[in-house]
Amino acid sequence: MSLTLAIVGRPNVGKSTLFNRLVGKRLALVDDQPGVTRDLREGQARLGDLRFTVIDTAGLENATDDSLQGRMRRLTERAVDMADICLFMIDARAGVTPNDEIFADILRRRSAHVILAANKAEGAAADAGVIEAYGLGLGEPIRLSAEHGEGLNDLYAILMPLADKMEKTAEEQAPETDVDLDPEEEEEVAEGGVQEAPVITADKPLQVAVVGRPNAGKSTLINRILGEERLLTGPEAGITRDAISLQIDWDGTPMRIFDTAGMRKKAKVQEKLEKLSVSDGLRAVKFAEVVVVLLDAAIPFEQQDLRIADLAEREGRAVVIAVNKWDVEENKQDKLRELKESFDRLLPQLRGAPLVTVSAKTGRGLDRLHAAILRAHAVWNRRIPTAALNRWLIGMLEQHPPPAPQGKRIKLRYMTQAKTRPPGFVVMCSHPDKMPESYSRYLVNGLRADFDMPGTPIRLTLRGQG
Ligand code: GDP
Ligand code: GDP
Repeated sequence: MSLTLAIVGRPNVGKSTLFNRLVGKRLALVDDQPGVTRDLREGQARLGDLRFTVIDTAGLENATDDSLQGRMRRLTERAVDMADICLFMIDARAGVTPNDEIFADILRRRSAHVILAANKAEGAAADAGVIEAYGLGLGEPIRLSAEHGEGLNDLYAILMPLADKMEKTAEEQAPETDVDLDPEEEEEVAEGGVQEAPVITADKPLQVAVVGRPNAGKSTLINRILGEERLLTGPEAGITRDAISLQIDWDGTPMRIFDTAGMRKKAKVQEKLEKLSVSDGLRAVKFAEVVVVLLDAAIPFEQQDLRIADLAEREGRAVVIAVNKWDVEENKQDKLRELKESFDRLLPQLRGAPLVTVSAKTGRGLDRLHAAILRAHAVWNRRIPTAALNRWLIGMLEQHPPPAPQGKRIKLRYMTQAKTRPPGFVVMCSHPDKMPESYSRYLVNGLRADFDMPGTPIRLTLRGQG
């Protein structure tokens, strides 16, 4: 089974340009195929090592203004129904228009899997439009330039795991016998999928967001990191900065740092940005792989800090807690003990996440912050072999047998890691609906402790076997 991607969006945003780029010479018009009308073009796309079917809603081009909205709706709905994923394209140079809003609405209501793409994003003229796109509430937009072929790496990075998952689902849908699966055998399947090297993503920078309440020291911290790199590499070398992020090799690690403080300051001069409906913090969290929650040591764990840390956990991001302005702290030992106690009490869902003390002002502790970011990212990406997981599961079951509601013991047969970023596990069992929350928590805490995955959100799904 192959993945089908529909490109939707209002006329002139660049859908056909992207379609042609993906399909290249293999373009096939399928007007005469049953079920596919003249309004939808279909082709076989190639992106890196991925192959998938792409649908373009080209029929809109001929619509007049008053017929546009109705047709747009019908065509989009049809494309959504035919596709596994929709790439919703806007024109970053034009910003978000009322027609774009209508599309966003349709897509949200059909609860399709949506990739938001801000096209024509080459150059700084697109920055405001890219930021505006966050306000559509469809997640982080990828910056594309269909014309120049930019941003295809990001598209690949999003499609790759989805394509992977589709293949897995297809396997699962194969007729199933009633016997327990053999972990060893299953492992080959799972590991085989991983070996497919994501060539294009190899150089993708690590996406980091620095979030925190006003005056926590976000700007100071980012400037400090930039400053130290500048000392190492000369003025501005290797640093590219736009309205929402900056890219830098921090101690040799390519990172893109989402700069909420910088954004807020820019927003003041660009009235367009003030209409944004989603908060800086939320957008930053959506963008990031690792979220650095920057606290002010004098007033740590305020309500706002807790909310953003909790949000990061719920969104499945790796979290690092950085306590800033450590230079002014006099009784560091006591303070540290107090911080750890508050952390455990107020953010139990992030148990084990790294807590680092820093001074953005003096630069002290930045090396430890750097290391903590890398460590959190590695844990977030960890993949545990299926055989090891199932050996572990047997031990856990022996130590604490699952409950037996109404005299029928819940059987846990087998488990596998279905995804990374953050780690997600599937446990095959009888009566998943009867499993008490406490037993799932026992398993999650066990995974965290036994496989050394502190501080990362861990997802556990129970699945019945027919
Ligand atoms: P569609 O109606 O959405 O299929 O849009 P088209 O693919 O026909 O593109 C509309 C116009 O935008 C054309 O003139 C394209 O050359 C132009 N265009 C497409 N992609 C880009 C891009 O990435 N950057 C710029 N600057 N122009 C683009
Ligand atoms: P932002 O609003 O989070 O971007 O915070 P800023 O970076 O603008 O910093 C707010 C204030 O805290 C400024 O006066 C900074 O000089 C100060 N500040 C930032 N980091 C430190 C630090 O590590 N130590 C001390 N003593 N002051 C800091």
